[in-house]
Amino acid sequence: MKEQRVKKAAAFILIGAALCLGLFRTWGDAPQELSYEEFWEMAERGEIRSAAIGDGDAWRVVTKDGFAAVTPNPRALDGKERLLKLGIEVTEEGTALPAALLLAVALLGAALLFRGRSGAPGLQKYAAVDAEKAVPQVTFADVITSPETLRSMQDLVGFLRTPGDYERLGARRPKGVMLYGPPGTGKTLLARALAGEAKAPFFAMSGADFVQVYVGVGASRVRELFKKARKAGGGVIFIDEIDAIGKKRDNGNDEREQTLNALLTEMSGFTGADQIMVVAATNRVDTLDAALLREGRFDRRIEVGLPDAEQRLGILKVHARKKPLEAGVSLEDLAKQTAMFSGAQLEALLNEAAIRAARRGAGRIGPGDVEAAFCAVAVGDESPRRLSDEEKRVTAWHEAGHAVVTRYLLPGSRMARLTVIPSSRGAAGYLMSIQPDRLLHSRKELIAMIAQALGGRAAEEALLGKENVTTGAAGDLKRAKEIAAAMAEDWDMGESGDAKRSAKIIFEEGFAAARQCLAEHRGQLARLADRLQEKETLREQEIMEILEP
Ligand code: ADP
Ligand code: ZN
Repeated sequence: MKEQRVKKAAAFILIGAALCLGLFRTWGDAPQELSYEEFWEMAERGEIRSAAIGDGDAWRVVTKDGFAAVTPNPRALDGKERLLKLGIEVTEEGTALPAALLLAVALLGAALLFRGRSGAPGLQKYAAVDAEKAVPQVTFADVITSPETLRSMQDLVGFLRTPGDYERLGARRPKGVMLYGPPGTGKTLLARALAGEAKAPFFAMSGADFVQVYVGVGASRVRELFKKARKAGGGVIFIDEIDAIGKKRDNGNDEREQTLNALLTEMSGFTGADQIMVVAATNRVDTLDAALLREGRFDRRIEVGLPDAEQRLGILKVHARKKPLEAGVSLEDLAKQTAMFSGAQLEALLNEAAIRAARRGAGRIGPGDVEAAFCAVAVGDESPRRLSDEEKRVTAWHEAGHAVVTRYLLPGSRMARLTVIPSSRGAAGYLMSIQPDRLLHSRKELIAMIAQALGGRAAEEALLGKENVTTGAAGDLKRAKEIAAAMAEDWDMGESGDAKRSAKIIFEEGFAAARQCLAEHRGQLARLADRLQEKETLREQEIMEILEP
């Protein structure tokens, strides 16, 4: 009931806000426009109080002195993170009614405070449930995925569209489908396309929305969601981030447990007449409660993996449909260079490239735009922070260490860029290396990959001695440990019966290989580090020239 009232109030505030805004628009001055550079300079100086970000063309920001302004939306993946790191209040707004919605959401957030601290973000997503009631316009032609995944999804269309055909033959209709795989691989898109293909309405909600609120609210939201779907005569109910409610039962989180039970109860109550299919998505199927995966629940599991080179080309083509490219841009090459990229990252890459082209006033996207976008998506934009001379020297040795090991131990890899310009994601510098896209890796190659990751730390040791190595290698160490652990546990490549010990031994083997490689090529290491310190960024050709024996 409260829900109903709140919704009415929301509609009211929304209209009110829209009106006020309309008035302000006509009476007041138009908000000041800040260029991209101006805005980030002010942000760095701590002069921005808040920013309302969304999918629209502009962000609306308020300065510490209370002036409202707009600035172009950089559409960078890490835009929000950057703002938060600078201590700026961030609100997210939708696309439909951006300005009015922002106010409404802010006010509603306050109204809902008594129900839980994070009312606002949950509510914003919740609002999307109504907006999406219609049949999505998306089809399988918009999603590029493996033939197996596509076939499994097509099967489901049949169940939704002509259930009779299956029931007549005694086939049990799947109630719950679990899509699992890394983030950004198109699970949400697949679920929407399923509804689109079946001409069924789509209802979406995120598991994270359920657990942010007080006990009992999550369960009632689940029931309401199913009620809505039944009222609409069926459809696809999509639950993103199901792991937020479906984690293995831990020390008893009441809210999560109640929500999960409500979901399972709803699912077991389906009758033949309910043309409802529940599709859930998760990045971590391993953490899910077994109760969720049991027969008659989410018993259809469909893997949605990272795209291979051919699929990457397909995804790039889909997202390049409305983007004019210069003849020099080869999507074929780009597909080869983007191993390990998700569909969302590929989409972001093309979008970034388009923004860069627009910024320089070009009519088409050029190879330079694509390259800069590649770096921005892979490692983040350049950070305005500058390194001190000493930091730069250490970073140059560190990065040169990675490069030397890559050159001699992984000769099949290409090195696109080596830099000591800090990135906005906190790296002091980086080597961008492109590994050949391969399905299988030999033990020797994996050891070389550990050595590559540890090449930075090994170079710091060579320059500064063991006592003076820095924290700059934290990410490298983590990556090396992950490879070593996978080798020991998953691929049985260790010598000791104890996987933990094996992993440790493998890690040390990789580290030793890095140290030895740098000792053998000490002259090249020093030369590369010096040149890097001087020029800050080196391209493939320069790196290779310096490293020629
Ligand atoms: P997930 O749900 O797996 O995290 P999403 O479906 O939200 O991923 O993907 C985000 C966006 O990235 C999509 O809307 C689409 O633009 C793009 N994308 C991701 N995967 C694919 C794909 N396989 N084919 C086409 N576009 C994709
Ligand atoms: Zn490193």
